[in-house]
Amino acid sequence: MSIFEKIIARQIPARIVAETDEWIAFHDIQPQAPVHVLVVPKKVITRIGEAEDSDALLLGALLLGAKQVARSLGLLDSGFRVVLNHGRDGGETVPHLHVHVLGGRPLGWPPG
Ligand code: AMP
Repeated sequence: MSIFEKIIARQIPARIVAETDEWIAFHDIQPQAPVHVLVVPKKVITRIGEAEDSDALLLGALLLGAKQVARSLGLLDSGFRVVLNHGRDGGETVPHLHVHVLGGRPLGWPPG
């Protein structure tokens, strides 16, 4: 069971921002920006490269979830970034798909 499954099952605590039947959003434990929230599907998809065509609606719901989080935390005007990390070079550390929502400061480009 991944750490995010344990958060979904309320076995370990998290600072939850929003939740639907399909996903849960909570603050990252090691924030890289003043706002750093993860939007995590309740269905286990290991990483974006393993998503299936049948996950299309769920993937769309995650992006709309990211928008909802950004709006509720006041980022729509200032701006924000949505990130998915896949694999070693992508910087993935938790093998359970999650959408990072980062904002609250200017974010550099290209990313490190
Ligand atoms: P990634 O590197 O894209 O796989 O992102 C995993 C993210 O999960 C990192 O930003 C971690 O800081 C975050 N993280 C790991 N454990 C927890 C936890 N228990 N609660 C909240 N965020 C976590």
